[in-house]
Amino acid sequence: MDATTARAWIVRVAELIHANEQRLTDLDATIGDGDHGANMQRGVAAAVASLEEQEPEDAGKVLNSTGRELISKTGGASGPLYGTGFRRAGKELGDEVDVQAVARALEAMLRSIEELGGATQEEKTIVDALAPAVAAFQETSGQGGDLHAAASAAAEAAERGAAATIPLQARKGRASYLGERSIGHEDPGAASTALIIRALADVTA
Ligand code: ADP
Ligand code: MG
Ligand code: MG
Repeated sequence: MDATTARAWIVRVAELIHANEQRLTDLDATIGDGDHGANMQRGVAAAVASLEEQEPEDAGKVLNSTGRELISKTGGASGPLYGTGFRRAGKELGDEVDVQAVARALEAMLRSIEELGGATQEEKTIVDALAPAVAAFQETSGQGGDLHAAASAAAEAAERGAAATIPLQARKGRASYLGERSIGHEDPGAASTALIIRALADVTA
């Protein structure tokens, strides 16, 4: 992935978050505190504004800058998790452009979010969308798929993963305070993760 593609990815993330801000807010109002749409909107808008002021020379620097803005502007539980995830992905990617390097970067994003948040799959979090997305990306790229093929498979897996959080009981984050009452609703963080991965598929088409 080159710097232009990485930048287009983040711009597309901002568009999809903006278009889905109300849905993310509604999901979070049901099992959390109703700020996930606003949190994400603030974070990604800052990330895009920061990219407009600089010319990062490689994709790793674009993702690193995005992570920095997400950490400082998003807030909530999701800000540090996504922010750290993008920073680690950027560090892993550096100036590499091949699809295998992107696979390693996405894996680094997942691992850093798991480490920081302590969540594993089926705890109704970001991890439930990101883990299957990374697995699908790796499988498709490992079979010779290009960036768009891998990102498309990852986006479908992330969307399935987000939908699969509906019957789960939350074990991490604010929604876990609801206990069994968290069952029956999609996790807002898993939903925003699906948008982030879909954005990569969109810009590589
Ligand atoms: P807050 O809950 O602080 O208001 P947000 O509403 O922005 O923060 O984000 C909530 C989302 O963060 C949840 O839907 C969940 O997906 C994600 N999340 C919360 N805690 C964790 C965690 N420990 N690991 C992974 N994701 C988490
Ligand atoms: Mg919230
Ligand atoms: Mg909050």
